[in-house]
Amino acid sequence: MSLTGIIGSTGLAFGQAVHIIEQDYKVDLHLLRKHEVTEEQARLKEGVRHLVQLLQASLQQLNPECENYQLIESDILLLDDQELHAEMLNSIEHQRYSATLAVQRTFDTHAYEIESIQDPMIASRGQDIRHLSSRLIAAINGTLSWNLDYLTQSTIILAHDITPAEFALLPTKYISGIVLETGSITSHTAILASAAGIPALLDCQYQSLNIRNGQPLVIDAIDGILHHMPDDELVEKLRRKQLEEVTRTNALLTITGQETQTLDGHSVSLLANVGNINDVTRAKDIGSLGVGLFRTEFMLMHDSEYPNEQKQYQTFCDALHILNGMPLTIRTLDVGADKPLPFVQAAQEENPALGIRGCRYSLDHPQYLKPQLKAAMRATNHGLVKIMFPMVNQVEEIDLIKSVIEECKQELINNDIGYGNFDFGIMVETPAAVLNLPSMLPELDFISIGTNDLTQYSMAADRSNLSLSKSFPALSPAILKTIDLIVTQAKQYDVSVSLCGELASDPKVVPLLIGLGLSELSVNLNKFLEIKSTICSGDYNQFQELAEKALKQTRIQPLQQLIYART
Ligand code: PEP
Ligand code: MG
Repeated sequence: MSLTGIIGSTGLAFGQAVHIIEQDYKVDLHLLRKHEVTEEQARLKEGVRHLVQLLQASLQQLNPECENYQLIESDILLLDDQELHAEMLNSIEHQRYSATLAVQRTFDTHAYEIESIQDPMIASRGQDIRHLSSRLIAAINGTLSWNLDYLTQSTIILAHDITPAEFALLPTKYISGIVLETGSITSHTAILASAAGIPALLDCQYQSLNIRNGQPLVIDAIDGILHHMPDDELVEKLRRKQLEEVTRTNALLTITGQETQTLDGHSVSLLANVGNINDVTRAKDIGSLGVGLFRTEFMLMHDSEYPNEQKQYQTFCDALHILNGMPLTIRTLDVGADKPLPFVQAAQEENPALGIRGCRYSLDHPQYLKPQLKAAMRATNHGLVKIMFPMVNQVEEIDLIKSVIEECKQELINNDIGYGNFDFGIMVETPAAVLNLPSMLPELDFISIGTNDLTQYSMAADRSNLSLSKSFPALSPAILKTIDLIVTQAKQYDVSVSLCGELASDPKVVPLLIGLGLSELSVNLNKFLEIKSTICSGDYNQFQELAEKALKQTRIQPLQQLIYART
């Protein structure tokens, strides 16, 4: 059986299915036939065994003194209760209940008995029993969420959605692929999966396949297909396809040391987008000219508390040493809306995407901004630092940011701590920022175009909503004109301009961006060499002609045809 999905990160992945968020609590109400009884009893026993194993694994991680430990222990005791087992097995045999119905009825009765006891402490255990019953039903249905810390083999995870913070905690050593019911290619999970080289399928309605934990899956994120329990012949075919893909990507490694230049000699600065120190090493290894976007919030998502100035300073210094003289563009904390942080209490806002996020959040929370700024400013002694602020709309915000920078400088001087020069820039990712460029550019050393948010805010279309991103894509006449306007303005004010949104990570779109006059791009690590190869095998003249034609398009479909039909 197979199903299509949207490719969030390319490649092929083989592994066992594991549900990490969704659980199937459905109770099968149909009455069994006589010959089905033994099999159903076996399903019940297997479900119990699986759940007990999972609970025991959780116990090992907990301190025996904590309350949770005792609750889990009593859950295990209940699942081991022979009387309860006999009751469930009997109702499967004599009442012809399905295993899930037997669990529901038996646990409900037990919970009811407990709840009718006068002692409120004991009565409250009824709720725990009902919860345990749901988990046992999910275990029988094969969709119990697993504790990923105990993975020992290649796994494809299935989830409705994963936040960037949840992604940061995945044991990537065993995660060969990701399948999500939601998501779009500019969602942060897709960006992270792609940077980590993990194939991902999005908008994949896998519930219809009835996938059970442990069953074999293959993600073909070249053609956008999820294969459920493929036969040997298909697996072999897909393994060959994977081999071809690996051969193709390995061949690209030969251009690593080459300059990024078109055939007619036009040079392009190709930099990488990173989220942690490992990414910085990878960027250096594949020949990147530096880091054009360090999403510092991704690095912070592992932590249960905000890392102090010294810890961030250490990270920035490590990155600068790896880069050995090449620039590190540190983007200050970009949190809020689709990027919640584990240690940040999200404000209750009616509309978080239009709320306190990006630089607004940082300016409202100097306790987070100042340590990060000071860490970045101190790191200037170790290499080339650029500090970039996200979601800046107007010059007033630049005034505020500059005054915080001055405060940080003064505090460092007062404590006799050294710092050096750094470039100061912003991301251009809202229509207001574009229109306010004449007032902001004189204050800046550089700008970087964030097409993910620029598209979201220009089109008023949530970037993680796939159905909207299909109709309101980044590659559209409005966004193209906007990019053209930004590049023209930046040139007029002699301020360097780069583009770091996912649009620059699409090899087909890169010739158009270069033709529009962008000579610096910062791209997803996984696409880096493919993009470099595209640039090195094209002519700048042709890229300019393409841009001219593209700017004349007034509709999305012919524009996309022009860009994607090119060979
Ligand atoms: C963007 O918005 O284009 C961007 C690069 O920033 P992020 O994807 O992290 O919001
Ligand atoms: Mg953004």
